[in-house]
Amino acid sequence: MAVVEKVEAEVGGRRRLRLSNPATLEPIGEIEVHDASDVRASIERARKVQPAWAELAFEERGRFLERAVRVIIERQDEIVDVIVSETGKPRMEALSAELISSCDALQFYAKRAKGLLRDRSIPLHLMRTKKLRLVCKPVGVVGIITPWNFPFALTINPTAQALMAGNAVVLKPSEVTPFSALLLDEIFAAVGLPEGVFTVVTGDGETGAALVDAGVDKISFTGSVRTGRRVAEACGRNLTPCTLELGGKDPMVVCADADLDRAARGAVFGAFSNSGQVCTSTERVYVVDEVAEAFTAKCVELTSELRQGSSGEFDVGAIIWPGQIDIIESHVRDAVEKGARVLTGGRRNPNERGYFWEPTVLVDVDHDMAIMRDETFGPVLPIMRVTDENEALRLANETGYGLNANVWTKDKHRGFELARSIESGSVVVNDCMITYGVTESPFGGVKQSGIGRVNGEMGLKGYCNVQSIVIDRMGAKSEPLWYPYSNDKLGRMKKMMRFLWGTSLGRFLS
Ligand code: NAD
Repeated sequence: MAVVEKVEAEVGGRRRLRLSNPATLEPIGEIEVHDASDVRASIERARKVQPAWAELAFEERGRFLERAVRVIIERQDEIVDVIVSETGKPRMEALSAELISSCDALQFYAKRAKGLLRDRSIPLHLMRTKKLRLVCKPVGVVGIITPWNFPFALTINPTAQALMAGNAVVLKPSEVTPFSALLLDEIFAAVGLPEGVFTVVTGDGETGAALVDAGVDKISFTGSVRTGRRVAEACGRNLTPCTLELGGKDPMVVCADADLDRAARGAVFGAFSNSGQVCTSTERVYVVDEVAEAFTAKCVELTSELRQGSSGEFDVGAIIWPGQIDIIESHVRDAVEKGARVLTGGRRNPNERGYFWEPTVLVDVDHDMAIMRDETFGPVLPIMRVTDENEALRLANETGYGLNANVWTKDKHRGFELARSIESGSVVVNDCMITYGVTESPFGGVKQSGIGRVNGEMGLKGYCNVQSIVIDRMGAKSEPLWYPYSNDKLGRMKKMMRFLWGTSLGRFLS
């Protein structure tokens, strides 16, 4: 049974999708594919309630989010059950990467949005007779489209930011993992969030495209480069602002002076957690020659200790659906055909019923192989030897992606300098992946990995229109630049120009 079966059911003439657990292949439920008219109705409802929501004080809006945190804590086991049933990930990962980060996001923005979005006065360097104030206003109704890899956290994080900025939200979760988002809907209803402020529309790409086209005031999209491009095109047609959080091919650079034990543990965690289905997964490693053998041996040893499964205690879970496991298989096959060696793993797990790829370490890889160029999004750790850090940097940057990266060296200053040289939205020194989880840190990609930033102050402001209000302070009868024009005035302006930008005193004063 496929994880998503498209059932052309005639229940009210609507398409429905039948879903199953990717680890056990047991059915977990069905969803309706909402069409364009459903989406428009949700947006209309959101438009009606949004002004009253925006009128509430930050503290009042924040209280709904804080109450949601309490419900998440109370219902944690049930929420973990839902996440695990639709993703096949270990309970530990559901709790740490989804529930804990969600509680943090809700509480962080509930508590800090007021300070981060407060009106600001900016001192003016030149027009001192005026006053500038910046006001953050909600954009209105935000359409949020999410992927399947963190169905709870990636639903809550943008939603918390959009809501605290005073917007209403219409959210379209992945068709593979809709139940986590529906659970959030239920949680918000339980804490009394006004109806229509947050709505989930379910369905596949058709529903997502309808949301993008339905005239929302902003689209916040997280997903693949391929879909992101389509979303950007549609947003371009409608001139709808959008942020795009897309895929990556994150490099790891291991320097000769790295703490190899920590680096190897970091590589294994970075490549295999969430079965490698993390936008910031370590997807390729460049290790300098002199430590390559020792580093690789440690990675192989740690990898072979990992327990893969679907029940009891285990470390590595399932792959979300057959399409994803096909990509992983084709990347590994292509690498092996071109000369790569599999040191461990390298195949579907024959002992499991569902979709499982064994944690895999590959060596003798190069950039002719898809495994080093394209996003694999699976539990594969390809390790490439390089002569020095410069070669590592060159290869790290030889990619169309630029989401995250990690660098390992005992010299923190050198680590910082290497990090700066990597073309990506974020870099971690002596750790991996954590940038999305550092709530203060703006997160997003360069190159094809995305447009715009989420999280922190910058992300929160992305859900606002920043309005600038200039106020005259003096109340004079007229202004120097107003009518009437005269040669006399022109002469004074020329003198002023020469003084302000043509003399050192003027430059100092301006
Ligand atoms: P995807 O692009 O296939 O789907 C993402 C969402 O877009 C889904 O909800 C899908 O239904 C919807 N969609 C599909 N077609 C659409 C269309 N034409 N218009 C609007 N919406 C449409 O991505 P996925 O397979 O669900 O997720 C995996 C990808 O997400 C990976 O590439 C991963 O790197 C990326 N990702 C990025 C981040 C980040 O923060 N940068 C985080 C998580 C995942």
